Amino acid sequence: MPTINERKQQLTKRLGELEARLNGIETELDQPMSQDWEDRSAEREGDEVLESMGNSGLDEIAMINAALERIENGAYGQCVQCDETIVDARLDLLPHTHLCRNCATAAAAA
Ligand SMILES: [Zn+2]
Repeated sequence: MPTINERKQQLTKRLGELEARLNGIETELDQPMSQDWEDRSAEREGDEVLESMGNSGLDEIAMINAALERIENGAYGQCVQCDETIVDARLDLLPHTHLCRNCATAAAAA
């Protein structure tokens, strides 16, 4: 079973990867538009894909930051809704989760 420090390392590493990826996306979006009309619409579609990728990355960054904060507060690994302990198998898959399996299932069904 991973220690809280290992969880923290895992989260911090993931945060670094996401930030690096988002920085990459921004560089890509800042590229000047092609002068060629035909290339432009294709480029614009590509930019939309990159932007939506960026948004889901931002959501994950926010969740990871919140998880790191819960580690600092000693509340990590507890469901924010029902206070149940979140099982390790779930934290292995989703180290930034703030909901136990029951609450996450209920939230997804709502
Ligand atoms: Zn719960």
